Amino acid sequence: MTQPVDILLTNAHVLSMDEQLTQYDPGALAVRGDSIVAVGPEAEIKKEYAAKETFDCGGKILMPGLINAHTHVPMTLLRGLADDLRLDVWLQGYMWPVEREFVSPEFVRLGTQIACAEFIRSGVTTFNDMYFFEEEVAQATAEAGLRAVCGQSVLKFPTSDAPSYEDAMARARGFIQTWKGHELIVPAIAPHAPYTTTADMLRETAELAKEFDVPLHIHLAETSFEVENMREEQGMPVIPYVKKQGLFEAKVIAAHCVHIDPGEIRTLKNHGAGVAHNPSSNLKLASGFAPVTKMLEAGLNVGIGTDGPASNNNLDMFEEMRLASFVAKAASNDPTSVPAQTALTMATRFGAQALHLGHLTGSLTPGRRADLIVVDLSPVHNSPRFRRDPNNAYAQIVYAAKSADVSDVMVNGKWLMRDRQLLTLNEGELLDQASEIAKKIDAFLIAREQSVLSKLIALGGSIEEESFEVQVKVKLADPLKVRKGLERPEIEIIRIRHYDQHDTYFFFADPAQGRIRYREDEFLDEKGNVTATRPRLTLVGQKREDVFANEVLLSRSRYIAPAAQTLRFYREYFKPVREVELVKDRLRWLIKYKDTEFFVNLDDVQTPLLGNFLEIKSRTWSRGDAQRKAELVAELLSLLGAAGQPTVTEDYIELASMESPS
Ligand SMILES: [Zn+2]
Repeated sequence: MTQPVDILLTNAHVLSMDEQLTQYDPGALAVRGDSIVAVGPEAEIKKEYAAKETFDCGGKILMPGLINAHTHVPMTLLRGLADDLRLDVWLQGYMWPVEREFVSPEFVRLGTQIACAEFIRSGVTTFNDMYFFEEEVAQATAEAGLRAVCGQSVLKFPTSDAPSYEDAMARARGFIQTWKGHELIVPAIAPHAPYTTTADMLRETAELAKEFDVPLHIHLAETSFEVENMREEQGMPVIPYVKKQGLFEAKVIAAHCVHIDPGEIRTLKNHGAGVAHNPSSNLKLASGFAPVTKMLEAGLNVGIGTDGPASNNNLDMFEEMRLASFVAKAASNDPTSVPAQTALTMATRFGAQALHLGHLTGSLTPGRRADLIVVDLSPVHNSPRFRRDPNNAYAQIVYAAKSADVSDVMVNGKWLMRDRQLLTLNEGELLDQASEIAKKIDAFLIAREQSVLSKLIALGGSIEEESFEVQVKVKLADPLKVRKGLERPEIEIIRIRHYDQHDTYFFFADPAQGRIRYREDEFLDEKGNVTATRPRLTLVGQKREDVFANEVLLSRSRYIAPAAQTLRFYREYFKPVREVELVKDRLRWLIKYKDTEFFVNLDDVQTPLLGNFLEIKSRTWSRGDAQRKAELVAELLSLLGAAGQPTVTEDYIELASMESPS
C-alpha cells in the first residue's frame, strides 16, 4: 500500500549532501507538508508513495538549496555605490554616511525583497543576515518564502534604527521575542564586531542570545589591522578577547575569521561556533586568505557567505563556492584542498550547521524541511556529463554550473520558483523602486562631494565648528630673546608644552574649499622623549578675515576635530590634488597678560628649513574683543623683544613655496 504525500519529485539526479554524500540517479524525493518524507532510488520511492502533485525533474540535478552563511541583504540598494576602496574608507567614508541618511524601514524592506528575488533565482534557500530594522528583513523574507537567520545589529554608536546602545538592546530583545518560533525566520542578535562594540556589550548580547537560545552573529578577525589593534589594546588577538567576554557561551556564527591561528581555530571548534567564509568579499577588500583548509581539518562547521551585496557585489553562491575552492587551493598551495564535494557541502550541510540549523536544513534527508533546488546541467557550459566518478557531479555544479542554471526552487515545502518564474515576488516593480532610491543617493553624494566641509562632516564624530583667532607671526633672528622676555612680572605663565608637530596639508583644485591640515602633535618630556601623540584634523579656511595695526590678523578656522582615522584614510577619502608636509619643533606657553590668556608659540620650522618664528594667538568672540586683543598682542611683541621684526602674514606653507618654487 502506498503512503500519501503532497509532492513527488521524480526523474532526478539527486545529490542528497547527507553525511555519506549519497546520490540517486535516477532518484526521487517525497514531500509532505513542509518536510522531506523520503529520498531514494526513483523506482522505490514511486512504489512506496503516491502524491497529489508529481514534478518531473527531467533528469536535472535535485539538491538541497544553497545556504548563504553571511550577508547584509538590504544593501542590494547600495550595490555598486562605492568600490575599489579600502575597508575603512569604504565603510566609514561611504556606507555609514549613506546609511545614516537613507536607511529606513521601507529601504530595508525593498532591499530585502530584491535580495530574495536574487536568492531564489540563484538557488539560495536560507541566508544569515545582519542589518538594521531587522524586523523588516524578517517580514519581507517570510513573505517571499525564504528561510533566514535574521540578526538585529547592535553597535556602540547611534545607528539608523537605534539612537543608543541601550535602544539597540531593547530593539533586539523585542525583535527576538516577536519572531522566536516562526517557521521560516530564526531571530538572532548581531553585535557588529569587537571594534564597533564594547566588552560589556559583547557580554550582554551573549547573555541575551543565551536567554532566548538564539544565534549570535558577529564579524570576527576580518582584517590584520583589526587583529593588530586588538593585540595593542587588549594584549591578545580577537578570538581570546571575545571568549573572555563570554561570547562563546552563545551559539556564535562568526563571519570571516580570516586572521586566526590554530589555537583560535581550536577555541572556535571547542565552543561549537560556526564560521562563515566569504571569499569574494575577502578578495575584493584584500582582507587576506582565511585558513579554510585548517578550519575544515579541525572539524569546524565552515559555511560560505557572499557578505553584503555592496562588498561583493552579488549574492551568487555558485560563484562563491567556486571561489571558496579555488582560493583555498591557491592559499594552501595544494590543488587537492577543498575539492568540489567539500565546497558544495560547505554551501549546504556545513552552512546549515554553521548557522545552528543543521537539524532543519542543509541536506535532502527525511525529516528535514523541504528546501531544495533543481539545476539544469544541459546548457553548453555544463557539457558533457561524465558519470564514471561520483565526484564528477559535484565538479560540474561547483566548477561549471552557473546560478542561472537553477530552474526550480522550493522552501519549506512551497514552490518559490517554477521553470525560472518567480512565484512570490514581482521583480519589475522592485527594480523600479530601487532605481528611484539610487537617484536620490546619487544626488546626496554628488552634493556632498562638492564640498570638503560636507565631506568632513559626513564622517561624523565630534566636531568643533568655526572659530576666530587674533594672531601675529614674526620671523625671529634670536629666539632666546623671547624666552628671556617671558620672564617678566607682567606675564604670568600658566603652563609650558613642548612638542614636535608633523603637519600634512591637503590642497584641492578649488582653493575656495580651503585646505585640510592633518596634525600630529608629539608631546615631548624634558629629555625629548615622546610621551603622547594627538592627531587632529582642521579645515583651514580663508586666512585673513581682518587686519589690525602691526599686521595682527583675525583668522578663521572652519572646522577642527580629533582625527579618528589615519592619514592614509583621509588621503584616500579626500583625494587631494597636492600635499605638503611641515615639521616643526614647538614650545608653547599659555600665558596671562592683563587678565587675558594668550598662546605664545616659539617655532623652529625644520621641514622645510624656514628657521625660527614667534606666534602669538588668542581665541576671540566679537569684533570689540578682537580689537582689544590685537592691541595687547602688539604690546606683547614689544615686551618679548620682537617688535619691529618682519611680520609674516603668510603661513609656513606659503613661505615654503615662495622660497623654493616648485
Ligand atoms: Zn559582513
